[in-house]
Amino acid sequence: MPELPEVQAHVERLSRPVSDGGFAGATLSGFRPITFTALKTATPAPSDAVGRRLDRITRRGKFLLLRFPPLTDGADDGDGHRDDAITFVVHLMQGGRLVPDDKQAAKPRNGIARWTFDDGTALLLTEAGNERKAGVWVIVGDPLRQPPLDELGIDADVVTGEQLAIALGATGTRLHTFLRDQHGIAGIGRMLANEVCHRAKLSPFASTNKLSAEQVERLHGALRSCIADALSFERGLDRMSKSAERPGSVHHRKGQPCSVCGDAVRAVEYNAYEVDYCPTCQTGGKVLADNTTSKFLK
Ligand SMILES: [Zn+2]
Repeated sequence: MPELPEVQAHVERLSRPVSDGGFAGATLSGFRPITFTALKTATPAPSDAVGRRLDRITRRGKFLLLRFPPLTDGADDGDGHRDDAITFVVHLMQGGRLVPDDKQAAKPRNGIARWTFDDGTALLLTEAGNERKAGVWVIVGDPLRQPPLDELGIDADVVTGEQLAIALGATGTRLHTFLRDQHGIAGIGRMLANEVCHRAKLSPFASTNKLSAEQVERLHGALRSCIADALSFERGLDRMSKSAERPGSVHHRKGQPCSVCGDAVRAVEYNAYEVDYCPTCQTGGKVLADNTTSKFLK
């Protein structure tokens, strides 16, 4: 699944001017949902944005935001989001991609939705696999104050140590669960959750409200540096990476030696997903059992 760094680097690619292969400044000529589940909102009609220019592509959590302000100047609410701007909010979920669509085939492979622009270019939302969960919300007004973005926590790349401590203390859950849940902090998925816990030398099953100040500080540092590393890797590519290409220390490396200590990386099934960790670095040598109620999950 694309996480904050992958989405951020992709937003930067798409934000280049049209003359440089990007989409900034392109005028919308049409939007077409290709699957029944593509469009998540009933109003406004996507066609309300036709004729408007795509003035800004941004990111919030793992979502991409394509903003089309009205042609005439409206009142600015201070956040740079005019009240009557229309924003397409896109979530890629597990296997989604938002890509330039040169062919514009009538039935594009894995196609979910398509934006066309009056210069003949197009953007296609695709989703590999059968989940069909990727989608588009069309929002008028400030998108940050409306679903699906209004309940997101602070973005993981900008959260301060103090804000992180408050978010951790407000919930009594497992650290790995907290990192992946988008309400405490936003933008982290399975891979970064594994990598951040490893770099912070914390058990993925540590209780969030029992972490010491020193542990929270380590977690904050690991969060910032893991995101920075992933972003730097991703910015070196001309398209969004596949999961298997992304460099990591523990994620999907079960049985391989830990890059820090040489111990074998272990995996444990938890709530239907795999958590990867190094016992020596993270759990005091304890190998965790495949059971969510296990007394070893500490
Ligand atoms: Zn290790």
